[in-house]
Amino acid sequence: KKEFKLIPKKKNDFQNLQEVNAQILYMVERFQLGDNEKKARSLVIQLLQEVFVEFFPDSKIIPFGSSVNTFGIHSCDLDLFLDLENTKVFQAHAKANFEQAGEGMSDDGRSEDSILSDIDLSTASAAEVLDLVAVILKRCVPNVDKVHVVSTARLPVVKFHHKELNLHGDITLNNRLAVRNTRFLQLCSGAEERLRHLVYTVRLWAKQKQLAGGPLLNNYALTLLVIFYLQNCDPPVLPTVDQLKHMECVIEDWDCTFPTQAIAVPASGLLAGFFSFYAKFEFTTSVISLRTGQSVPTETFLKKHHHGGPKIGPMNILDPFELSHNVAGNLNDRTARSFQKECQEAEKYCRSLQYQSKSSKGKSWGLVRLLTPHGEVQQARAELFTISIPFKSDVLPEDLRNQQHIAKEAFSLLWFQRVCAVIESIFQNVLKCQLVSAPEVFDAGEDMDSQNSSLDDSGFSVDSSLEFGPNIGVKRPLSSGSDDSVSPHGKKPRLSKRGRTTLSPWLWEQRHVVWAGRRKVRRELIKDSEAKAEGSCVALETQVTSHITEKEPELKEVLQFKLQPQVVGATESTSTLLKFQPIQDSVGVFQDFFHFLEVFLPKMVETMLLNRMDNV
Ligand code: ATP
Ligand code: MG
Repeated sequence: KKEFKLIPKKKNDFQNLQEVNAQILYMVERFQLGDNEKKARSLVIQLLQEVFVEFFPDSKIIPFGSSVNTFGIHSCDLDLFLDLENTKVFQAHAKANFEQAGEGMSDDGRSEDSILSDIDLSTASAAEVLDLVAVILKRCVPNVDKVHVVSTARLPVVKFHHKELNLHGDITLNNRLAVRNTRFLQLCSGAEERLRHLVYTVRLWAKQKQLAGGPLLNNYALTLLVIFYLQNCDPPVLPTVDQLKHMECVIEDWDCTFPTQAIAVPASGLLAGFFSFYAKFEFTTSVISLRTGQSVPTETFLKKHHHGGPKIGPMNILDPFELSHNVAGNLNDRTARSFQKECQEAEKYCRSLQYQSKSSKGKSWGLVRLLTPHGEVQQARAELFTISIPFKSDVLPEDLRNQQHIAKEAFSLLWFQRVCAVIESIFQNVLKCQLVSAPEVFDAGEDMDSQNSSLDDSGFSVDSSLEFGPNIGVKRPLSSGSDDSVSPHGKKPRLSKRGRTTLSPWLWEQRHVVWAGRRKVRRELIKDSEAKAEGSCVALETQVTSHITEKEPELKEVLQFKLQPQVVGATESTSTLLKFQPIQDSVGVFQDFFHFLEVFLPKMVETMLLNRMDNV
């Protein structure tokens, strides 16, 4: 099990840092392999090397993958390649000598007792050799358990576990490619330290958003995506593999050959850049090549590689060395789409102030919100967009005041229904939103008993969750009838057991920035009109909106949002919660609208509850 999560108690330390970059560094330090861990790993490697060379003369154990590619985290697996090339040569020699010298003679005494005499490496299958490796691990390496061969994998491996270090390891044969691409990652990492910062952050982000691990995007593919992005920055932060080829001999003089940026963009800026790069990237129609640092249209690519080309899928990342291998070949459509969607979300977030600077109110900011797991984000967002309208006895319409003798619960519901009617009127008439669909109540004439039991007899759905459930039965919009239809005669409205009653949501649309510049418009209207005489604040606010919708250009795309009202508590602490959820907000204005509503709505509701509704 890989430990790759933020420990909650550490979250505070993290929140209290002053800059996103500091958060990135903090996170890298928390996750990266420590020196002691690296040392322990190299001791295990040394031990294995000593044992294996006994059975496979001249063999070599070569580590690759995250233990050595500079992107390792605590308890990442130990990937090893058992290189038997020299052993094969050794065996071939031994065999030749043996045949020459005749039976019973051994050349140097090494092969006689060797397990090698049981197997001919030049003809044995990988599975046979791996079985042998498994036997050696089980019998001759101390502290090792859970040894088993997985021969069905793309690359067959022997898996093992080191008890004392609690370390999982993989041994493969024939994995020169991985050794080479590990070297490539090391080179890139050595040349540009921001690469590591980015890779750790992107890996953790992908994990938190459930994009990585298992059959999803693997860490290697994610790393290549980061490198490709850095190759495509302007100016480039990393060279292409082709450029690197010419530079490898002068790698120490890296800076002379590859121009570094005069003023380096910090890792936090590169991270935001990563998300916006892939938010727009045409994954399905391009093939990513780190070798050239370019993406090629899939069609062009396929024309050139019709034989034995890589598996083309929803995301195509060519291995930098084995060009016929698509590193993301196993990715399904859904994950590829989610990856892009999450990049778009992250891009939006990185543009907000919350990403860039520490919240003075102690709210999640910077990386904390970016790395919040998927479900929690939605919850946080739902909580974020809630406005509460508390019950106040001094803002009661007269007719309700006369009803205060009825049961508290029933009274709360009456008040809630009135608040909802007022709110609908505010959105529809004052703010001139288009109603797409309204919360619905049962027609007063309907037989309630035949209806779904999740609706109580006040006609309100009593689910306290945020889910926007389906509406069942014959219903009509809240505002379309007389007051009687809202509170059917002869039925006693009641709150659910949980003390909450939730109405199904309204769906609204707005085409204008009716929240922007209201103060100025208001001032002008008051100054040069007789509006004052006309009186009510409702009329004035309505005029302000009209003014804006007439004068200001429309939004490029309509803003659509849900609004779900809920009443909580049936005592003096009763309040109406208004839960907002942006449904379509491609222009990214919902947050501004919501901030305006936070101040505007409660005031307006008060005014309108006291004024009679027909003032509108
Ligand atoms: P971690 O083990 O922390 O997930 P890793 O980089 O070690 O990260 P592994 O899945 O263990 O990832 O793979 C080990 C190495 O094998 C990689 O670093 C890479 O060199 C190579 N590798 C992994 N997956 C692929 C692939 N799909 N195509 C080519 N090489 C791969
Ligand atoms: Mg690994």
